[in-house]
Amino acid sequence: MRIVMLGSGYVGLVSGACFADFGHFVTCVDRAADKISQLEAGNIPIYEPGLGELVARSRAEGRLNFTTDLTGSAPAADAIFIAVGTPSRRGDGHADLSYVYAAARELAPLIKGHTLIVTKSTVPVGTGDEIERIIRELRPDADFAVVSNPEFLREGSAIEDFKRPDRIVVGTEDPRAQKIMADIYRPLHLNQGPLLFTDRRSSELIKYAANAFLATKITFINEIANLCEKVGANIQDVARGVGLDGRIGSKFLHAGPGFGGSCFPKDSQALIKTAQDFDSPLRIVETMARVNDERKNAMGQRIIAACGGSVEGKTIAVLGLTFKPNTDDMRDSPALAIVGDLQDAGAAIRAFDPKGMDQARQILASVDYANDAYACLAGADALVIVTEWEQFRALDLPRVRQLLRCPIVVDLRNIYRMEEMAALGFDYTCIGRNLLPLARTEPPRSELRIVTNNRA
Ligand code: NAD
Repeated sequence: MRIVMLGSGYVGLVSGACFADFGHFVTCVDRAADKISQLEAGNIPIYEPGLGELVARSRAEGRLNFTTDLTGSAPAADAIFIAVGTPSRRGDGHADLSYVYAAARELAPLIKGHTLIVTKSTVPVGTGDEIERIIRELRPDADFAVVSNPEFLREGSAIEDFKRPDRIVVGTEDPRAQKIMADIYRPLHLNQGPLLFTDRRSSELIKYAANAFLATKITFINEIANLCEKVGANIQDVARGVGLDGRIGSKFLHAGPGFGGSCFPKDSQALIKTAQDFDSPLRIVETMARVNDERKNAMGQRIIAACGGSVEGKTIAVLGLTFKPNTDDMRDSPALAIVGDLQDAGAAIRAFDPKGMDQARQILASVDYANDAYACLAGADALVIVTEWEQFRALDLPRVRQLLRCPIVVDLRNIYRMEEMAALGFDYTCIGRNLLPLARTEPPRSELRIVTNNRA
């Protein structure tokens, strides 16, 4: 198969490299000339484990190339995938589809022979219909089908996710398009990767519903963590006990500072907007998004409280800036809200992230970036763990204790053992866990009063 990937960011580059690895001939196109020059020079513009090797192998075997020019590759393509960004539209939270529609207008004149136009970008219900309309208007003669094929990979484990997906969703009712999509993904379904065919609108909605559900799962366990802190329970035990139920599953039950990243926040907002437009509000998703936003700001307050009520004039060491480990992606990372709130409260921030600092520098000004974790925390008034990079789990804790000016540690990812931290003399705050079991208390008096009133 000859495949063109229009947009070579996290999704386009990983998908393109994996398709080339399956044996297809892939051209990754991007309008960002610097990105393409880097790729042509053998450099990978993003951090994604294993991607450099995969790209190098397919390039050496002549199945993967990069260009800014769509005109050379599109006419010969069996399938053109659209993998451009769909960020939140400024002001209203709808998905900004301007890049997707621009891509459709660019590729329309280049279609030659039967061609699939496949939307891999996350797009709201009905976008496929509009892409079809745009292309048909520009090229009434063209032989094409528009297919939805949302992507479910996670940054940090993108290649593994792409090659061993839980499912591949294909939205088209056109039998010829279904056959071509099955051929493109043939190595995966030979390998038991289930291929789910559905109509285009259902396919578009599956992606949003899946992301909203996962975001809700995280938000749910975060609120249960708040309750654990009040009642003297341990969120890690609670999450494990809940997650072992096969109907629930243990993934996405790790309490933390609230979700961020390039997908969950913007996709939740876009789904909320679609539902409102169709007069079918998603009240659970609306509440989830609000609770998550509030949580990120509550984390700043938690750190300030751990520092004795004020961070004015203090230096706070922040370890981890990316929205999760094993990526350099800073989009909507909780670190942005947390660092901003601490700076507003008068703190100086010193930060270290293993891969995210180049991106962070472009967004987080007035932060002092350190070269490693120990340099970051030396002389600081408190240490905050925002992202659970593996190397932070392995820190030499007695050395950390020695280097910190005050032994305050706020661990927003629960990566350390409470007893060990206490034994080392840290003043340790974490999420949904208390070092000492709380004295068994009655519910707050206000609640008792409500019970009495009800009886009356
Ligand atoms: P990204 O910003 O990393 O990459 C998008 C790329 O498209 C950029 O390099 C940009 O220069 C390029 N581009 C934009 N318009 C173009 C055009 N007309 N021609 C050529 N190139 C163009 O975005 P991403 O994270 O890869 O996300 C892409 C889509 O995939 C989004 O809809 C996103 O929601 C979805 N998605 C992302 C992830 C993820 O983990 N990042 C996972 C699943 C789905």
